Amino acid sequence: MYRCPYCKRLFKTFFGVKIHVGRVHLVMRCLACGVMVPNLKRHIYEQALKRNEAHMVLLALIPHTTKCWRYEKNRKLLEECTEKAMEVCKVNGGGGGLSGARSRGSRP
Ligand SMILES: [Zn+2]
Ligand SMILES: [Zn+2]
Repeated sequence: MYRCPYCKRLFKTFFGVKIHVGRVHLVMRCLACGVMVPNLKRHIYEQALKRNEAHMVLLALIPHTTKCWRYEKNRKLLEECTEKAMEVCKVNGGGGGLSGARSRGSRP
């Protein structure tokens, strides 16, 4: 018997564990929309390209070591995403946070 080191589930073969890990543990949940995808970075990137705000923020926050950041147009996208993420993450002394972005346009 072989046991998955991550969830202790038992399998008859080592190959069974490999398939299980690939199917169950390598699938990650997207923090922006909750979908389970085998290639999370690609999913986030594709959604960010469509200017999906939640995914743009997420894209800026995950480590981006993939080759695609070599391209100029992707770097521009990353810059845009980083700006959004910084806005979301920023905590101002005078009560900022997520709702702070909305009140930016209005003047007292
Ligand atoms: Zn497992
Ligand atoms: Zn998503």
